[in-house]
Amino acid sequence: MREHRLKIGVSGIRGVVGEFLTPALAASFARAFGTFVGTGRVVLGRDTRMSGEMLQHAVSCGLLATGCDVVDVGIQPTPTIQIYVGATRARGGISVTASHNPAEYNALKLFNHEGLFFNHYERRELLDIYYESEFRTATNAEIRRIARDHETPMRMHTERVLRHVDAARIKARKFRVALDGVNGAGSELSCRFLQQDLGCTLHAISVDPTKPFPREAEPRPDTLGDLRELVLRERANIGFGQDPDGDRLAVCDETGRVLDNDDVLALVVDAVLTSMPGDVVVNLTTSSVIDDIALRHGRRVYRTPVGEANVVEMMQAAKAVIGGEGSNGGIIFPSVQYCRDSYTGMAFLLDLMERTGKTVSQLAEERLPKYTRLSGKVAFEHGRLGPAMQALEESFPDAQMDRTDGLKLLFEDAWIHVRASNTEPIMRLAVEAKSAERAAALRDQVSGML
Ligand code: MG
Repeated sequence: MREHRLKIGVSGIRGVVGEFLTPALAASFARAFGTFVGTGRVVLGRDTRMSGEMLQHAVSCGLLATGCDVVDVGIQPTPTIQIYVGATRARGGISVTASHNPAEYNALKLFNHEGLFFNHYERRELLDIYYESEFRTATNAEIRRIARDHETPMRMHTERVLRHVDAARIKARKFRVALDGVNGAGSELSCRFLQQDLGCTLHAISVDPTKPFPREAEPRPDTLGDLRELVLRERANIGFGQDPDGDRLAVCDETGRVLDNDDVLALVVDAVLTSMPGDVVVNLTTSSVIDDIALRHGRRVYRTPVGEANVVEMMQAAKAVIGGEGSNGGIIFPSVQYCRDSYTGMAFLLDLMERTGKTVSQLAEERLPKYTRLSGKVAFEHGRLGPAMQALEESFPDAQMDRTDGLKLLFEDAWIHVRASNTEPIMRLAVEAKSAERAAALRDQVSGML
């Protein structure tokens, strides 16, 4: 496990803070970033992790040393930072956040001048600068000051999202909404957005950015017990759960059932395709429910390897109107920004409830075909992956195969996806089938082989 406590790679740096991810390392990486994007404004923000302030200072230091103008936006959701970078024509942006990873981790998410994740070539080039330590060094006269702007990013984000829903009608309905903000970067914006902009009666827990995460950071059905209780206690119409940097969204219905994240994405895809013609892009591990919905609207679904940057690149190429990563709780709506955005998800779901007059459980029941989804993880030793994948291919000779990210085997009524995790030394296994028995049988068969 030790090598996974620090990872320096094409998606930036991430690691356990202290022994592994140090201020010196963050400053060096920021110097590489400043050298790469060139002198000009760089937007810098963070989530609420205890190490965030320390690392933000280190990153500021590195950026200033290369002659960048640093715009400190403070604690902000990642999508908010991305929108602000693009809208203010900065040279780039950095979000100090390890997203859904445990509290002891931190990381740098890096954005180009449009507020998008770097593409593959940009990431390579940045990494070359980092490894060769060919940093630009500003002269004394070139070293700039830090500017601060905490309000504008939130206002820009809110305005972009509200353009796509009927806020006045949502306000008039006075929805009762429960929120679990995990004491994360969205704590301030989420309360403001739901109460002031959408007129909801809000019952919020864990919206204190000065406190630690009170639960596992990833918002999933099994980590949102407190949200479920809150929904039932306050008789809320809907409950929202966010991750520490506010890009992921989980949803609890009015009966206290937390939806599968795939179903949340599916409801939003359905809502968007109803009003906007266009195609859909999701990752390989996202539910087939997306295909059923796209088909209903006469639209196409493109599939990509797992990873937000992969989905975004394909969305741009295919000019998709909506996309995301189902199991990761990520909704990507380009009219707001090419990034996962929990606020877009919240607004679209409230809008859908307003327009249809239906509850969340009714919407899920009526609009989403039923599938059983199972997932698992298996530890693996290096060198074992190749033979295991080959054995899998051989034992399902009739399946249709997709090898673009691990191995996906497609059957008439089911699919299996096995891939190495991008972040941990494990294999991730996902199975989906129309019947529960079939899903369990496939999972057991594949787990046995791995
Ligand atoms: Mg996140």
